[in-house]
Amino acid sequence: MNEDFLPFALPSIGEAEIAEVVDSLRSGWVTTGPKTKRFEREFGEYLEPVGAHDAPALKTIAVNSATAGMHLVLEALGIGQGDEVIVPTFTFTATAEVVRYLGADPVFVDVEPETLNIDPDDIARKITPRTKAIIPVHYGGLACDMDRIHDLARRHGLAVVEDAAHAFPTTYRGRLVGTLESTATVFSFYATKTITCGEGGMIVSRDQDLADRCRLMRLHGISRDAFDRYVGTAPQWKYEVVEPGFKYNLTDIAAALGIQQLRRADELAERRRAIARYYSERLGGLALDLPPQPQGSDSHAWYLYVIRLRDEAGMDRDTFIERMFGAGIGCSVHFIPLHLHPYWRNRYGLTSEAFPHAQRAYERCVSLPVYPRMTDHDVERVAETVTRLIGQ
Ligand SMILES: *Cc1c(COP(=O)(O)O)cnc(C)c1O
Repeated sequence: MNEDFLPFALPSIGEAEIAEVVDSLRSGWVTTGPKTKRFEREFGEYLEPVGAHDAPALKTIAVNSATAGMHLVLEALGIGQGDEVIVPTFTFTATAEVVRYLGADPVFVDVEPETLNIDPDDIARKITPRTKAIIPVHYGGLACDMDRIHDLARRHGLAVVEDAAHAFPTTYRGRLVGTLESTATVFSFYATKTITCGEGGMIVSRDQDLADRCRLMRLHGISRDAFDRYVGTAPQWKYEVVEPGFKYNLTDIAAALGIQQLRRADELAERRRAIARYYSERLGGLALDLPPQPQGSDSHAWYLYVIRLRDEAGMDRDTFIERMFGAGIGCSVHFIPLHLHPYWRNRYGLTSEAFPHAQRAYERCVSLPVYPRMTDHDVERVAETVTRLIGQ
């Protein structure tokens, strides 16, 4: 790989993040501890300043991945064998695999042709008496049609668990994703996401019982209440196991990164927006479909900037990516739809014909690099190379 190769994604780790991690290492507290607590509190305050809303306060539960977070939420909802959970086919496998962890079945839904977000009409068609929950994914960082999804959920008594892995910070009708009327929202801090802990995730919910259950199951089903009874009044070796829980806690080393990334969240988001704006200006006249902009004054997290080649581009998607790579620019594809993966396809008998919009998007989509570490020169180089390859 030559020196000028521009990778598809890179995290933006500054000196403040490095210093905060070093501080954890020197402190001796490397696993879940004071920094994880602080990250939970500050993440909640970022989404919703205390006292800013009539609804019950947001509870935040830090975990070691969004996948773990979604698993915990579905477990807390009591989802199990015989139950169905609605998911888009155009997502990462984690969205659906957590349903299988519990022995329940994902039911796959197509996406809207423009936004590539889960299609509420297709959700409505696929609700059965066994449906327990819907997991919408805010594709690329653009909010789903949450009013219609909440309306369907209310009418059928379903939980809504937002997969917000791409959606920090994203607004929907003026409110940040994470503060809407859903049962829970789960964010990811994986290496490439808009803020990162290396690996990490956050569950956000207003439901106290659900939050308590997630907290309990996050760390081996060890009861905190039982544990806290002894703190300060006796030696602290006593605890009670009340469930066979999981090992899903976030470490303080990871939380240290998260704390400092969170402080830069607005700056990082603004840089992503600026790059997306530039691409949309520069690539407007080409044989491409550009990603849709959010409604009104809402904000897009621009985790992904996904272009779709039109037939007139005269080049298929794979060739385009090879030529971009040849010009020293990394690209990616989000996503290979779940209906094309052998496990999901074979287990549920899925066909491409059943998901025409996701299938068509998959065949034409390319994710361009869009991350704050890119220089203006990098951004210009991407725009220039796409223009040269596709032509006017
Ligand atoms: C990254 C991602 C996840 C998984 O997040 P982890 O923190 O790596 O578990 C889930 N859903 C979507 C849509 C993602 O892109």
